[in-house]
Amino acid sequence: MGGVRTFLVAAAVAVTVALAGGACAGTDDGDGLRVVASFYPLAEAASRVGGDRVDVANLTPGGSEPHDFELTTRDVDRVEDADLVVYLGGGFQPAIEAAVTRSPARAVDLLSADLDLLEGHDDEHGDDEHGDGDDAVSDPHVWLDPTLMAAMVGTIRDELTELDPAGRADYAANADAYTTELAALDAAFGDGLARCEQRTFVTAHEAFGYLARRYDLTEQAIAGLSPEAEPDPQRLAELIDQVKAEGITTVFTETLVSPRVAETLAREAGVEVAVLNPVEGRTDDERSRGETYVSLMEDNLAALRDALRCE
Ligand code: ZN
Repeated sequence: MGGVRTFLVAAAVAVTVALAGGACAGTDDGDGLRVVASFYPLAEAASRVGGDRVDVANLTPGGSEPHDFELTTRDVDRVEDADLVVYLGGGFQPAIEAAVTRSPARAVDLLSADLDLLEGHDDEHGDDEHGDGDDAVSDPHVWLDPTLMAAMVGTIRDELTELDPAGRADYAANADAYTTELAALDAAFGDGLARCEQRTFVTAHEAFGYLARRYDLTEQAIAGLSPEAEPDPQRLAELIDQVKAEGITTVFTETLVSPRVAETLAREAGVEVAVLNPVEGRTDDERSRGETYVSLMEDNLAALRDALRCE
C-alpha cells in the first residue's frame, strides 16, 4: 500500500502542476452546484437527484474499493471547493472524514441522517487495545437496502434544495422518479426472496447486513466490515462446517476484492462460487456497459435467487 500511496501522491502532484498553467477542465465549469460524493452509490444518488443542475464528482476512482480509500492532494482540493460533500461517516472512509472536517465546504454525513443502523465488526481497525476482540462499529453498508438508499435520496434532495432553492421543483421531481425506481427494486427483492429453500448466504466481507435484515435473510461473512482484513482460520473452519451442515450451495465473491479466500472456502466445502456485488464502486467494464446501482442490484437479486433456490 505504501508504494501505491506514494505513487498516487506523485501522480496528483504531476496533475496539479500540469493544470497550474491553464483553466481547470472537466466538471469545474462554474455552471451547476459542485457536489462531491465519497463513493459510487452516493455519486449515483446525487446525480439522479441533481440532474443537470449539479456537477457530481466521485472521489473513489472506478474499479477501486472504497474502504480506507486515501485522498490525493487534488481530491482534498475538490473537497475544499465543493458546494456540497456527501459521504458516509463512522470510520468507513476516514481520510474523507478528515478532509471534510478541515474543509469549509458544506458536508453531510448520510450515515447519521436518521437511518436505523446496524452494528458490525471491524476486525481491521479493531486494534484490540482492551483485549476484548473486535470493536463494534456502525455498519456503513446502508445503500444495499433500497429503502435506506431512498432515505438518502430524500436527504440529498433536501440539501440541494436548501443550497439552490430555485431548483426545488427539479430536485423534487428527480428524487420522486428515482425513489419510484428504488421502490420497484425493493418490491422485486421482497417478492423474489419470499419463498426460498435456504435463507443463509455466505459472502466475502460483511457488506450485506442491511439487505439481509430487510429481506429476512442471514449473512455469514468470511471477513468483517472491511474487506482487507485478514481472514481468521478458525472463522473459515466454522464456515466450512456450516456450509456443509446446512446445505448451502454457494459462496459469494465480490468484484473489487480478491476472490482467493472465498474460492478456498468454496473448494473446501465442495460448493459453487458466484458473484454478489456490494456496489461499492463500478468496475471500468460495468461503467462502460452502462450498469447502475439499480441494474447491479437486479443482478444481485438473480444471484441470490439462484443460490437460495427461490421459487
Ligand atoms: Zn464494504
